[in-house]
Amino acid sequence: MTVLCGPTAVGKGTVVARLRELYPQVFISVSATTRAPRAGEKDGQHYFFVSDTQFDAMVSAGDMLEWAVVHGKNKYGTPRSAVEKKLQAGFPVLLEIDLDGARQVRRNMPESQMIFLAPPSEMDLLTRLEKRGTENLEERTRRLETAKTELAAAGEFDHIVINDTVERATQELARLMGLAT
Ligand code: 5GP
Repeated sequence: MTVLCGPTAVGKGTVVARLRELYPQVFISVSATTRAPRAGEKDGQHYFFVSDTQFDAMVSAGDMLEWAVVHGKNKYGTPRSAVEKKLQAGFPVLLEIDLDGARQVRRNMPESQMIFLAPPSEMDLLTRLEKRGTENLEERTRRLETAKTELAAAGEFDHIVINDTVERATQELARLMGLAT
């Protein structure tokens, strides 16, 4: 199992989408979240969009492999059963989760590979977040606060991949996952 973590707007979604295109055998876990869907996001595809009550019930039932409150706001978690089934069947599994969640996985499944996707510079991150235009100023400020904490934790990871170009970063990730030589 591979865990991919990285600050907001670093381009995790784009790199993961490219990995999925090139290596469809990789199982990319679909998280549950209490966040509202963004325009174009589909339930069951981008996330399982659930209520706070539904989320808490999944946690109580032990159905989450890990979970966290991200950006001090919404809950996000990895549904356990799909991941365990795929791992048992021998498929490579990728989790794209936050720092708190990554630390939980490292504790509970120490054989997992921990990868940090980093921006070429902090300035680059700021520009990307503004360009994306999906968050208002308050939300962007909140996300940049989380990003600072996450960047400071990059050293905890087994590997740091710099997202200079999507193609190169995806290839490096694929190599680390043993999908490419
Ligand atoms: P967004 O709201 O932009 O879709 O995601 C915000 C953050 O939530 C991302 O940086 C992502 O790493 C994190 N995240 C998404 N799914 C999960 C999950 O299942 N568990 C945890 N711990 N974090 C997640």
